[in-house]
Amino acid sequence: MGKPRDSSFFWEQVEIIENACWMWKGSRTTGVEYGIYYDGKRTYLAHRYMWQIVNGDIPRKMCVLHTCAFLLCCNPEHLYLGTAKIAAQDRMKRRKQKSPWSKLTEDDVRYILRSSDSHYDLSLRFDISMQHVRQIRNGESWLWIYEEYLESESF
Ligand SMILES: [Zn+2]
Repeated sequence: MGKPRDSSFFWEQVEIIENACWMWKGSRTTGVEYGIYYDGKRTYLAHRYMWQIVNGDIPRKMCVLHTCAFLLCCNPEHLYLGTAKIAAQDRMKRRKQKSPWSKLTEDDVRYILRSSDSHYDLSLRFDISMQHVRQIRNGESWLWIYEEYLESESF
């Protein structure tokens, strides 16, 4: 285990432009493109890390959402807290996809994210569409669990 890095390492990776999006210049996730920040000890999503620097801890089950359309943006003025429901609506507006995910529990979603089974096997196991499995794995639905999952992974 390393020591947490000084937060200057975080700021070095943010391109700050007044009254505009602050682009994350460091690593990114695959699928939904979020910035990833590794502080020497654990991994964070860059926009969530920024929100926490400015506002403190993120309440459970809340997502850090963007008012801009740019998920790599870390400008705290473009970030807001939303419930999973708002996150889903936000995402649907952006992607225009239906996400009938009410059958699943949070633990099911965690299982799907950790599983190496095929989309097909998981769709049979949970009685959901393959498209829905794909959406979960891409963070297009159940965003708050996806974020939790990404932060628990080591990249
Ligand atoms: Zn922005």
